[in-house]
Amino acid sequence: MKKITIAIDGFSSTGKSTVAKQLAKHLGYVYVDTGAMYRAVAFYAMQNGLIDKENFNVEELISQLPNIEITFKFNEALGFAEVYLNDENIEKDIRTLEVSAFVSTVASVSEVRKKLVEQQQKLGKNKAVVMDGRDIGTVVFPNAELKIFMTASAETRAERRYNELVDKGDQVTFEAVLKNVQERDHLDTTREDSPLVMAEDAIEFDNSNLSRDEQFEKLLALVEAKL
Ligand code: C5P
Repeated sequence: MKKITIAIDGFSSTGKSTVAKQLAKHLGYVYVDTGAMYRAVAFYAMQNGLIDKENFNVEELISQLPNIEITFKFNEALGFAEVYLNDENIEKDIRTLEVSAFVSTVASVSEVRKKLVEQQQKLGKNKAVVMDGRDIGTVVFPNAELKIFMTASAETRAERRYNELVDKGDQVTFEAVLKNVQERDHLDTTREDSPLVMAEDAIEFDNSNLSRDEQFEKLLALVEAKL
């Protein structure tokens, strides 16, 4: 069967990764969570004292980029690939509100984006890939056969993220999660390098009022039309 590249972009917490994983599993495609890669760099910067609430040592982060190796390893039990930073599994460490607070600042650095985009293009070079992020349809794979742009209201998205964090046992308030979602939307859409915009040939997909299954069925129909 024909193999295609599926690019899923959109705002924070729109459920991109959930549906991207479902589609990849169904189609036997590789799933690449590019947000996890930016989170891994942010986590590295935090661990190495390069970023905190007051300071961000951009020059030092840029000079240390060659020391940052991000890989994915498929976890059979979970059914998706977990992210590793220099051979250490950091899948859980990067999903915190603390990392979310710094990730968009780190993701605005062009040198960081260049490194990660190159790796993403290698990961998807054979097609049969579902990649989610902010710039997949515009920068990473401008020729992707199917581009989806996911949207939902900020409140709906914050509620989803809040429930996820609380379910994991994180102590967060809804207000803090909503503030983070809004701040990241702002930084992601206004940064100079590869801002979050909908590609001209992307299909806008608002899932505010859709269940997981409904969203999957609708997107699968779009994929099948392309195949
Ligand atoms: O998708 P997720 O919410 O995990 O992404 C975390 C952050 O990484 C985003 O808010 C954005 O700042 C950055 N990002 C990006 N480009 C991508 C994927 C994520 O700038 N392709």
